[in-house]
Amino acid sequence: MARIGFIGLGNMGGPMAANLLKAGHAVRGYDRSDAALTAFRDAGGAVAGSASEAASEAEVLITMLPAGAHVREVWLHQGGLIEAAAASGTKPLLIDCSTIDVASARAVAEAAEAAGLAMLDAPVSGGTVGAAAGTLTFMVGGTEAGFARAEPVLRGMGKTIVLAGGPGAGQAAKICNNMMLAITMIGVSEGFLLAQRLGLDWDKLWAITSTATAQSWALSSYCPAPGVVPTAPSNRDYAPGFMAALMLKDVNLSQAAAEATGTPTPLGAHAAALYRQLVEAGEGARDFSVIFRWLDGQARAPAGG
Ligand code: NAD
Repeated sequence: MARIGFIGLGNMGGPMAANLLKAGHAVRGYDRSDAALTAFRDAGGAVAGSASEAASEAEVLITMLPAGAHVREVWLHQGGLIEAAAASGTKPLLIDCSTIDVASARAVAEAAEAAGLAMLDAPVSGGTVGAAAGTLTFMVGGTEAGFARAEPVLRGMGKTIVLAGGPGAGQAAKICNNMMLAITMIGVSEGFLLAQRLGLDWDKLWAITSTATAQSWALSSYCPAPGVVPTAPSNRDYAPGFMAALMLKDVNLSQAAAEATGTPTPLGAHAAALYRQLVEAGEGARDFSVIFRWLDGQARAPAGG
């Protein structure tokens, strides 16, 4: 069992760190939010007073933070985690599970390598339900040697663990996944909205489409129409889950990557525009499936418009 430092104990990091505790690891956690620290302590974790304190004596260091700016701040900032990890003498393995831009992931991995430490980008899929159940999918970028060290630890939090390629490859896989998810969630929302206005019962629609060709995770496990899938955020006033503001971040990352590579992604661009409108409407802190309710309140654009 390993000594693990875990920074970022929010909607995802909190249950992930709790599963590491359940797997028998010694986990010391840090978050700048007191509420997150209290929940981690209640789950049996040891609380640190700073990120670098969580790093001391750790054999593995994990971050689960909102975006690239937070990841760079925590790992690279003066007195940051790479400096603390390099000074600790334990030569910990560094793993960032946040969803961030490929450039930030590679910059942090390079700084780690320069300090003589192995670093992996290991973003996840599966949402807060998968985080709580320990069934996440990890998409890992880094070396095979780093992956071999990480796998037993990641097994405590996930079911499917894939080495996608070198540094940044995990993030590349993740932004492609989330671009597809954003498009799919909007598609499912449109289908359920149209069904309602055609007088169809949502439960019947779900029973048919979840085993038909429209089947998807957004439909089967996370239905945005309330009352259909009991565990979905749509049944708790769209409390996250996965915040719409974070989905906008991810779909914007996909569009920056598409721009940089000259890739045609017209539906990705449209999804980004719709999520931007949703966030501008003040729904950023709700689950990203709230796009369904927001769409319900929109007027149809005139034909040809
Ligand atoms: P969250 O906002 O609930 O959690 C992030 C945590 O990081 C917060 O508790 C915040 O206080 C903490 N934090 C921020 N800056 C910090 C700092 N400098 N030092 C210490 N703590 C700091 O977000 P989340 O939903 O847990 O998402 C985390 C990451 O996982 C994001 O990159 C997101 O895109 C990704 N992700 C989320 C989901 C999901 O369903 N929520 C699914 C897959 C991936």
